[in-house]
Amino acid sequence: MTHAIDGLAGELRGQFPLLSRKLGDDPLVFLDNASTTPKPRAVIDAVVAYYERSTANVHRGVHTLGEEASQLYDDARREIASLIGATPGEIVLVRGTTEAINFVANAMKLGDEDEVVFPASEHHANWIPWRIHGKPVPMPIDDDGVPRWESLDGLITSKTKLVSIGHVSNVTGAIAPVEEVVRIAHAKGVPVLLDAAQSISHLPIDVAKLGVDFLAASSHKAFGPSGVGILYGKKDFLSKCPLYQVGGGMVSLNEDIGVGGFTPRDVPFKFEAGTPAIEATIGFGEAVRWMRRVGMARIREHDVAMSRYLIDGLRAIDGVRVLAADLPLERRIALATFVVDAPAMTQENVARALCDMFGVCVSAGFHCTHVLHARAKLSGTVRASPHVFNTTAEIDRLLEGVREIAG
Ligand code: PMP
Repeated sequence: MTHAIDGLAGELRGQFPLLSRKLGDDPLVFLDNASTTPKPRAVIDAVVAYYERSTANVHRGVHTLGEEASQLYDDARREIASLIGATPGEIVLVRGTTEAINFVANAMKLGDEDEVVFPASEHHANWIPWRIHGKPVPMPIDDDGVPRWESLDGLITSKTKLVSIGHVSNVTGAIAPVEEVVRIAHAKGVPVLLDAAQSISHLPIDVAKLGVDFLAASSHKAFGPSGVGILYGKKDFLSKCPLYQVGGGMVSLNEDIGVGGFTPRDVPFKFEAGTPAIEATIGFGEAVRWMRRVGMARIREHDVAMSRYLIDGLRAIDGVRVLAADLPLERRIALATFVVDAPAMTQENVARALCDMFGVCVSAGFHCTHVLHARAKLSGTVRASPHVFNTTAEIDRLLEGVREIAG
């Protein structure tokens, strides 16, 4: 098991400049990948190459640099689309998962009685939009924040317009039974949105196989730059969506007042007004190439072995409660959210101490899931989220820190 983790991590670590940093005398132990991932050299180089060689706007300049930038940008869109088994025309490039979900929420023009069903454990990005679009119907969760999927069927009524679920929880690491959810929702004629923010860099994804109607994801959690993400939607749905941002780049003809109107370009460009996040998108495309070179199956193999090592290690420490610790490995990614019983210390204090005393970077607080924490009666948690470059020695360093703090 250890070999599976350290073999791949050892092969890849040198490609991440960030990982050679020290915090004081401690080598950096980066265990906050669910917030955002470090970037491999290939991604950094792709962004720098755009700046140094091909800086130009896309789909505009009739000169060599403009053509190069457009080529890099279009190649990136193709690469990103194919990661999830989609075509480039089914991908709208947006700022990230949050914007993608808001896009769908706006486009559906939900009334006050139109219901959206989603697990109560969802990230605010898949909770708050349903507070202002339609009527939120949160699915029950258990005491550890894992959705009670068996309740889904009973929650879908004639008023349900959408089922919106996280593929992987950013708090428990639980993987949703997506195909089953799609089967139940589609049997009642209800579309399904998949928030893939936490799954895109951990699990192989094929939108056709999963059968989802929409998918939202961010580049920055998948080894790419921040500022760009995707909304996947079937072309017939996207063609019917109202325009939500308008301006340059999305219009094929604008006639003078009194002569006519304006004609938008086709999907997806009609939703991409203004200069896009060119270098971020090029970097995202490179991140997808990088993940493909590593292999999503190998990433998942590392993940499963790492899950066991991390969860077993944490739960063996007295005074530590790990959320959803009993979830089988095939139903989770390597992500552990836990509470350290350390008198007079908040969970934020615990995370700060892990950083200051051990060089270990983790998240602390509510992780944008206030409802989950309220229902689990928790006033904050610590989250360790390794990825494919993390080693067992780094997890040992985390465990050493937690043990000392809990003690
Ligand atoms: N959904 C989930 C499950 C997340 O973990 C996050 C990011 N923490 C988001 C949505 C929002 O992603 P972004 O901030 O990149 O829009």
